[in-house]
Amino acid sequence: MDAVTQAPLLKMEHISKRFGDNPVLQDIDFQTFPQDVVCIIGASGSGKSTLLRCINRLETPTSGEITFHDTSIFSRNFNLSAYHAQVGMVFQSFNLFHNLTVLENCMLGTRKVLKKSKEEARTLAIKYLTKVGMAPYINAKPAQLSGGQQQRVAIARALAMEPEVLLFDEPTSALDPQMVGEVLQVMRSLAKEGLTMIIVTHEMAFAKDVSTRVIFMDQGVIAEEGTPAQIFDQPQNPRTQEFLSRFI
Ligand code: ADP
Ligand code: MG
Repeated sequence: MDAVTQAPLLKMEHISKRFGDNPVLQDIDFQTFPQDVVCIIGASGSGKSTLLRCINRLETPTSGEITFHDTSIFSRNFNLSAYHAQVGMVFQSFNLFHNLTVLENCMLGTRKVLKKSKEEARTLAIKYLTKVGMAPYINAKPAQLSGGQQQRVAIARALAMEPEVLLFDEPTSALDPQMVGEVLQVMRSLAKEGLTMIIVTHEMAFAKDVSTRVIFMDQGVIAEEGTPAQIFDQPQNPRTQEFLSRFI
């Protein structure tokens, strides 16, 4: 590896977050390198969403530092909309605009944030809708689509910004079981193409398959971290073992 690929894209240092006297995150430390696919697993309430929300600056940590390309995302004059274009997020609940068509949903960010022309925005939207298999639905409204289709549109919308990193917070948890596969398939192909991703998921087979690194969170701390083989085949921490035993 050369020096460029060794520099972390995102660096989380000693992140702690309290809500009142609830210590939700405690001393979280990890880095994400280009082409990493980091899967974050752990029980409900362990702080996974809060961590992603801190990375996306939807929450501010009580203490600690997050840098993107060596710049603090909390620094004064930080360009938040540029950051949100470079570090996109896909939510459990899709968060599409229901009054807009599929195409309009996928053009909004590139028009408003990246200031693309209508034509450029349309080209990007169609490129990424095609990638997720949703090009035939450009004129549909979200309510006319299944959950799996809506989530694929949400992924296309994020991809249209051509981000460096995509964050996913349980992207398949709100889906009927028969729709989980189509969304995971899209994410698998993005991983294969080398998109850097941080994915909170309960899909253990998927995590084992696609991730370069797995982080197990337990009660606000990183209880164990390693390669998928280390975490899924030889977990060292009894808490990891106990958590994973629920999925067998
Ligand atoms: P996970 O995503 O792993 O299920 P969360 O990050 O959503 O965990 O939540 C971790 C803890 O933080 C929970 O105890 C939750 O109740 C608490 N929490 C999350 N968001 C807030 C908030 N905005 N205000 C107060 N408590 C919160
Ligand atoms: Mg969550």
